[in-house]
Amino acid sequence: MAGYRDKYFENNKSNHGWYTCVRCGKKLRKSDVDIDHIIPQNWGGKHNLNNLQCMCKHCNRSKQDNVDFNIVKDYSRNVVKNTKKNIKKNVKNSIKNLFK
Ligand SMILES: [Zn+2]
Repeated sequence: MAGYRDKYFENNKSNHGWYTCVRCGKKLRKSDVDIDHIIPQNWGGKHNLNNLQCMCKHCNRSKQDNVDFNIVKDYSRNVVKNTKKNIKKNVKNSIKNLFK
């Protein structure tokens, strides 16, 4: 169960030790962060990075297993963010390889 939490933190750097709740914008310390499954696990949501986001405990509790339009928004945001990150990494590697 701890696996996805570590995976999230490995791939999402904090801002000087602070994380931000995607819902209310509250600043959180790592220990106060709930890693939310955008598509809930009992709806088949997986532990992959596109499905994980940072929430405060309050927002995560009030979300529960409600599936609403926010899920589409949250999931799209993650896909864009993670795709951009991958493109950047690939471009960086390609440039590095040019000068090998
Ligand atoms: Zn919140």
